[in-house]
Amino acid sequence: MKFEDMKYERPNMDVALSSIDRIVEGIKFAGSADEVLHHMHQFDDVAKDFETAANLVSVRYSIDTTDEFYEAEDAFFNENGPKFEAKSIEFAKAILASPFRLELEERVGKHYFDMFECSLVLNDKAVPFMVKENELVTKYNKLKANGKVEFEGKTYTLTQMSPLLQDSDRDRRRRAYEAQNAWYEEYEDEFDTIYDELVKTRTEMAQALGCSSYVELQYKLLQRTDYDHKDVAAYREKLLKNITPIAVELRRQQAERVGIKDFKFYDRPVDFTDGNPDPKGGEEFIVKNAQKMYSELSEETGRFFNFMVENNLMDLVAKPGKQAGGYCTSFDKYKSPFIFSNFNGTRGDVEVITHEAGHAFQNFMSQGMEFINLIWPTYEACEIHSMSMEFLTWPWMNLFFEEDTNKFKYAHLKGSIVFLPYGATIDEFQHFVYENPTATPAERKAKYHEIELKYQPDLNYDNECLNRGSWWHRQGHVFSTPFYYIDYTLAQVCAFQYLLKSLDDQDKAVHEYITLCKEGGQRSFFNLLPVGKIENPMTTDVLEKVAPRLLEILNSIEI
Ligand code: ZN
Repeated sequence: MKFEDMKYERPNMDVALSSIDRIVEGIKFAGSADEVLHHMHQFDDVAKDFETAANLVSVRYSIDTTDEFYEAEDAFFNENGPKFEAKSIEFAKAILASPFRLELEERVGKHYFDMFECSLVLNDKAVPFMVKENELVTKYNKLKANGKVEFEGKTYTLTQMSPLLQDSDRDRRRRAYEAQNAWYEEYEDEFDTIYDELVKTRTEMAQALGCSSYVELQYKLLQRTDYDHKDVAAYREKLLKNITPIAVELRRQQAERVGIKDFKFYDRPVDFTDGNPDPKGGEEFIVKNAQKMYSELSEETGRFFNFMVENNLMDLVAKPGKQAGGYCTSFDKYKSPFIFSNFNGTRGDVEVITHEAGHAFQNFMSQGMEFINLIWPTYEACEIHSMSMEFLTWPWMNLFFEEDTNKFKYAHLKGSIVFLPYGATIDEFQHFVYENPTATPAERKAKYHEIELKYQPDLNYDNECLNRGSWWHRQGHVFSTPFYYIDYTLAQVCAFQYLLKSLDDQDKAVHEYITLCKEGGQRSFFNLLPVGKIENPMTTDVLEKVAPRLLEILNSIEI
């Protein structure tokens, strides 16, 4: 079904909630595992309808945040989503207490039950806090979506500023940077206030639910069954030790290459004196070439991408009123993934069509799962699909970049390496925030600046507002999905492994990758890694092994 034909109807909450009541009763009085399984399928149907409706609203609203109809529907889900979630806990309790649990675990896998076990941390008490949280996140997204920057007599959205921030003319780039910073500075207090309210709301919610802190609560909500915050802290140390020195060295080389002695933050986006590699065409060109690329990559990816194109399951280009960023979601009732992005003429456009398409491909491959919560795995595992796809499509990058292909590969790989210390920064900051919930906005920012200088000792913003430690105001995840950021760094190390594999044997690497995608969310992160034949970044020394090889590859690219 085409995206525009997917009909949205506001769910009737009374009907949805009472049907869960009936399912729960059914499970309590079930006389066999088969009977429980039947009720599990019924619950799955209710959840699928509700989530598909919610996702249709969230996609249509993010495409146009000025649409009043979908704005109202978005508010409906902000308010009623938490009620649905709280009600689902009764279902979780019933299946977890079922005398047939062991038999069911054998049939549908233990992971399904482990995930519901995590959700038990929630109950009705969480609802008002979650509603408040949703409202605040919406406020943050809206503020950014409607952000307008005046530059050279024209008005730009924040996303549209991106090409100017990488302009090869240093003076113009600096002015664009300053114009963008001025907008963020104007709203600095507002960002701080929204975040402060979020931190307080989340901390109160954790207390109401009997958790020691929001860290404990959110780790459960992220269904992190394999590791805790101490393991994450140890992993960040590995990044600091092994990657920070490499990132600093790569930027030193960059400064030398582009001939800038006083290398500033706004110089970072420019890797080459004659400018960055931009794709040689716009949306139509990129989609047409992506179609060719995916049809040659594998039979499965070809089928997938044609499906996306034929059903209009992508909204790619930046426009006013559109929410910032890129994401992939799905309408599981229609077995359809969806890709949202803000094309703006930079190499990021191609990175989106590979990154988000990696997510969408995995979703497409996993649509045959018996239960919807086995389709997507947890976030760190999801990001393996996307970030690895960025590398597995390298052999086709000439379609988009032509004579600039090597420049693209260099900038892409370098960007992926230097990203890691930044990812660790965002993660460490959030642990500080929720472990010290009474810190003031000024204390938070000071701490952020201290942490970022640890991971990026060569950082030079040349800007007062950013030196106060306000960069993270731009990082949506900090507001919308706490602790979802270290996931990118974990997945990046997995994706590097696929890059190395593919340089040895592309077909084998693609085959292993597709096998991982087909496994969907049937296992936890640690248990998915062997399925995809990759080593665990947290528990093995793969990071130490991979890092020098990445440098070799970078140095071998002729630019
Ligand atoms: Zn992603």
